[in-house]
Amino acid sequence: MQRADAVIAGAALSGLSVALALAEAGLEVVIVDRTDPRAAVAGDGDIRTTAISLSSRRLLTALGAWDAVADRAEPILDIRVSDGDSPIHLHYDHRTVGDEPMGHIIVNNDLKKALLDRLATFPGVTIAPPGAIAELAITPGAASLVLADGRRLSGAVVVGADGRESAVRALAGLRVTRLPYRQSSIVDTIGHDRPHHGLAHERFLPGGPVALLPLSGNRSALVWTERTAVAERIARLDDDAFAAALTERFGDSFGTLRPLGPRRVFPLELVVAERFVAERVALVGDAAHAMHPVAGQGFNLGLRDVAALAEVMADAVRLGLDPGSATVLRDYQRRRRFDAASLMASTDGLVRLFSNDIGPVRGVRDLGLGVVERIPPFKRMAIRHAMGTLGTLPRLLRGEPV
Ligand SMILES: Cc1cc2nc3c(=O)[nH]c(=O)nc-3n(C[C@H](O)[C@H](O)[C@H](O)COP(=O)(O)OP(=O)(O)OC[C@H]3O[C@@H](n4cnc5c(N)ncnc54)[C@H](O)[C@@H]3O)c2cc1C
Repeated sequence: MQRADAVIAGAALSGLSVALALAEAGLEVVIVDRTDPRAAVAGDGDIRTTAISLSSRRLLTALGAWDAVADRAEPILDIRVSDGDSPIHLHYDHRTVGDEPMGHIIVNNDLKKALLDRLATFPGVTIAPPGAIAELAITPGAASLVLADGRRLSGAVVVGADGRESAVRALAGLRVTRLPYRQSSIVDTIGHDRPHHGLAHERFLPGGPVALLPLSGNRSALVWTERTAVAERIARLDDDAFAAALTERFGDSFGTLRPLGPRRVFPLELVVAERFVAERVALVGDAAHAMHPVAGQGFNLGLRDVAALAEVMADAVRLGLDPGSATVLRDYQRRRRFDAASLMASTDGLVRLFSNDIGPVRGVRDLGLGVVERIPPFKRMAIRHAMGTLGTLPRLLRGEPV
């Protein structure tokens, strides 16, 4: 039996980040995943890249994990959003709001490795041997995860960072709302003749958005969303046919496109927990809310959970209070619920507004794009929203210590 301040279920992006934030605050944490996290980053289990917003980068810098990925992170200097063949488009230039890039594209495995390396410097952090979660037991003053092999990990709080199908969430009796999109995203790396100059370009088409996001050299990360049956068919095409289908949809503004692989299809679904906390349990990341990648905000939203949870737990410990008490977890729930619900609702609205070819709807969205493009305050607000710097932010997202 192992006892800590927090037991974290899930050692992917959210679980490793929350472990590091709590460790930085001086808390003892135990992390467990059904797969070995070191082996996971060495393989190609997660081939995705992530658009990290400015506030997320500030958090990762404050946690000492950014320097290790900085050289391999590609800055986003411009964003272009276009709607099919419409001449109206949105163009965000980072200089509209300051000197810093709007965000960076990082390879998920690079970030996981940086988080694992940083975690290894904290004596109070234990990465338990892999194990699947079987039971959750709540006793006065403690919560325990019981693993399938009988091991028991106990702490003041169990943090569910175990993804969209979270076992912790189910065991805690937290219900979810699900909205299937019947869309899937094809992910690949694309080589191109012309330089991207830091441009992230997203083109909305009736089947779903196609985005090319800047990587080092003349390469971009592709996130191409289509109805699921179409996505599966396209993903099986050979490289020449795949490049031709992509060029047909995306155009040739980057020159000749070449898929570099590996290629994978991710089915999409909106899943949101009705509550993010239960007795001695808190959810973070996709376990709390999984969303469509159209706005590249899923993990950024997860980091906002991480910042808020670490802050309320660290403040409790500093005051000599129980970091897993109902008051502390209620505070976390209060800080996160509205922000997550509003981002999910706006992202879902965006998907539905753009994933069709209905004439009057096309007219309305082009009007919307035109308004945001031409009215500077709207545009600045949209950019700051994408950068994650709007509103009252927890300390870590402002780049301050937890
Ligand atoms: C195509 C695509 C593109 C995306 N692009 C972006 C982007 O540009 N920007 C952005 O911010 N977000 C993006 N996202 C979202 C982002 O990838 C996710 O929000 C993020 O990866 C979620 O991480 P997580 O750690 O919460 O969950 P997961 O990555 O799902 O990790 C859950 C972990 O828990 C473990 N686990 C699960 N069940 C159990 C169990 N029963 N027992 C033990 N362990 C268990 C798993 O092994 C896994 O390691 C994108 C998503 C997709 C699909």
